[in-house]
Formats: sequence, C-alpha cells, structure tokens
Amino acid sequence: MRSKIVAGNWKMNITLEEGKTLVSQVLNSIENVDLENKKVVFGTPFVSINAVSEIVGNRENVFVASQNVSSFDKGAYTGEVSAEMLTACGVKMVIIGHSERRAYFGETNQVLADKVNMALKNNLTSIYCCGEVLDERKNDSFKAVIKSQIEEGLFHLSKDEFKNIVVAYEPVWAIGTGETATPDQAQEVHAYIRTLIEDKYDTETADNLSILYGGSMKPTNAKDLMSMSDIDGGLIGGASLNPKDFVEIILAM
Ligand code: PEP
Repeated sequence: MRSKIVAGNWKMNITLEEGKTLVSQVLNSIENVDLENKKVVFGTPFVSINAVSEIVGNRENVFVASQNVSSFDKGAYTGEVSAEMLTACGVKMVIIGHSERRAYFGETNQVLADKVNMALKNNLTSIYCCGEVLDERKNDSFKAVIKSQIEEGLFHLSKDEFKNIVVAYEPVWAIGTGETATPDQAQEVHAYIRTLIEDKYDTETADNLSILYGGSMKPTNAKDLMSMSDIDGGLIGGASLNPKDFVEIILAM
C-alpha cells in the first residue's frame, strides 16, 4: 500500500536557528499524531541538514530531505554536495527536478536522471518533480510535457529501482502564486501519471507509487486536494515555513 506524504520544501528561506525552531515546533505539535503509513518530511537547505537530523532523531515516519544533490559521484566539483555526503548526514530523501532547479539552474531531464541514479546508489528516495508552465496548460500540451519529464527522468529505472521513487506533480503556474490547481485538475494529472507508470511497469508498481501535489497547498485546500483518489500528499513550499499551517496540512493527510 502506498504511503501518504507531506513534505516541506523550505527553499532558501530560513536560517539554521529558524529551521531548528520550526522543526521543534512541528514535532511537538504532532507528538501524539498517528503516522502509520504516513510520512512527514522536512526539505531543508544543506547547511541545516545535520542539525535538523539530530532533532528528528529516530522518530518513526519523520524524515529529512535535501533540496538537491549532485549528479556526480565524488571529486573536483566545487560547490557540489554528493548523495553519499547526504546519506552520511542522515538524509533519507532528496527533492530532484524542482521547477526552480529546471528554470534557474538549467537542469535537464538527462541531468535529473543522473541525479536519480546517484540517489538510488546511496539509498535515498527521490522526490521527482514534474509539471507544466502556464502556456503549456493553456495550449493543452501539459500531458505531453509531463510525459517526457517522467519518461526521460525516470524510465531508465528497473521496476525494483522504481520503488525508491516518489513523484511530485507541481504545475509551475501554481507554485508560490497563491493559484492552486483545483482538486479535479490535479487528480486528472495524477491519474495520468499513474497510467504512464502502469503502462511502463505494471499495476502493482503504479498502485504503490506515492504521487504528491505541489502548488500553493495550504490548510484551506489541503483536505480537498488530498482526498482525491490519486493524490497521496503534498510538497509544500510557503506553508511549510509556518509551523501552524504545516501541522494543519499534516493533520489533513
Ligand atoms: C514548491 O515550491 O514546491 C511549492 C509547492 O511551493 P508553494 O507551496 O509555495 O506553492
């Protein structure tokens, strides 16, 4: 059975001390919440990973994610952080292919496929992001865009390797804009993604894949989105910076 997941993506917004306070507040608030078959994830900047990992400790079903990983294994790559380094700091998941990485840092599907491979090799679950920009939504090419993002970034994986993948559908026009895909719009794409996986692998692989929605998810819309049959949780930007909002979204999962 696939897990429900609420993952925060802090982006480049908060310092080490602010992050420590945020995680402690969230963990205190969910201390008595039953997280069976659910996961809470903190996607922190690299510099906060160690401290956040220490606070999270061995709590069941709570994980630290990085927001990026190098596509290289090791060596003379100034400024890069390898998957091996992340694993050594307690990271369990990595966000790969966020639209901001694609748009501002030129990350192509091919580079992202290499990053997914590095994550796999180091026992990290990839939260692989896909999603269309506004023009692609308007001209109805969004399914083709998503198909190529999924095929080129993920379809080199074997069925067994695919167990380490979570997909996040994040329509770019809904990220940080306050504009949210309606539950029906999001469900349509999530169901489409699941069909792509079923066609490539099999029904079991498709059924077991957690597909998260991202794009202005907040306490007021989280329940409606996450109650759709193919929406298994959320990747949350802005609202993950506010402990009260993030906790409310966790409770809605
Ligand atoms: C994101 O960047 O992954 C995201 C979904 O951001 P926001 O929730 O702020 O739209």
